[in-house]
Amino acid sequence: MLEDKNQQKTSLAELGEFGLINHITQYFKINKASTIRGVGDDAAVLDASEKQTLVTTDLLVEGVHFDLSYMPLKHLGYKSIMVNLSDVYAMGGEAEQVTVSIAVSNRFPLEAIEELYAGIQLACDTYNVDLIGGDTTSSTKGILISVTAIGKVDKGEAVYRNTAKETDLIVVSGDLGAAYLGLQVLEREKQVFKVDPNNQPDLDNYTYLIERQLKPEARKDVVGLLKDLEVKPTSMIDISDGLSSELFHICTQSKVGCKIYEDKLPLDPQVISTCEEFELDSTMVALSGGEDYELLFTVPIADFDKIKGNPNFSIIGHVTAENQGLQLITRAGQEIELKAQGWNALNKE
Ligand code: ADP
Ligand code: MG
Repeated sequence: MLEDKNQQKTSLAELGEFGLINHITQYFKINKASTIRGVGDDAAVLDASEKQTLVTTDLLVEGVHFDLSYMPLKHLGYKSIMVNLSDVYAMGGEAEQVTVSIAVSNRFPLEAIEELYAGIQLACDTYNVDLIGGDTTSSTKGILISVTAIGKVDKGEAVYRNTAKETDLIVVSGDLGAAYLGLQVLEREKQVFKVDPNNQPDLDNYTYLIERQLKPEARKDVVGLLKDLEVKPTSMIDISDGLSSELFHICTQSKVGCKIYEDKLPLDPQVISTCEEFELDSTMVALSGGEDYELLFTVPIADFDKIKGNPNFSIIGHVTAENQGLQLITRAGQEIELKAQGWNALNKE
């Protein structure tokens, strides 16, 4: 995990808006050839090249999308970049630039904003994207972050949600449900801490889950892995709201149905053991737990041998005719209709 540093406090008012912008952007370097001009003018300038441009935005609001009592600001900065890069990769593209806009209340000292930007910078360095601009303003309460990511894809090569074909295989990268369980563990520790602040939580059994919640990684590698395998996905989406919900997007937009097999859902051993401890159904968690930021995609059935046995991917089912609906085949062979519940629905149970 990322470490916290810095205990001194400098008020943002002291620094002023321009002082703050200069301060937080001074350590960012431009690396991409397509960035002609970054921070500092009225607008950034990008080279449009021969390719098509991908643009995606997400807005994160304190108290709605994150809780600073267990989300360190450095992780928040990192994650705010990841959720946007994930959308670029889900189009089959390469992310190149980001803009970051923040609204902060005066409850946050400069050091807090530095932590946030340390996470943003780590994400930009690790994923090789340039920070090229943003906006900075105040809020009456809390912190709000809006990130826009810009990417590129070869002409005609963008992978959409509405192009899955009947008989295609349905594939996910990585494993499912861990980020949701990480949030459950952190919520539980927060409640324990409220009752007894001296209680030191023992989180050894949950390291993977917490990492997945606090420091998710976007699947930059998948587009390249598929290219190397000479597999062109017919449709793709990233898993931000939960597998069920994303399957609904693909199936509705592609006008198809699907069959998903319970015994094929990829689960980390910590997900299985923690589900037992929390008395949660691991299949429900895999289907409805959000924020995994894995990629869900469909490939022609002819590509079965290229995907099968690849440790990065799990074939979890196949596309069917629209009138078949969305079905989960349980371990017992029973067919259950899938519901489009995201992690919000799971939370309300
Ligand atoms: P303007 O008055 O044109 O909106 P600003 O003073 O808000 O310009 O911003 C000056 C420069 O700093 C611009 O290039 C802008 O993109 C960049 N910038 C402002 N806020 C941020 C931020 N939070 N992160 C990164 N770049 C920023
Ligand atoms: Mg501005």
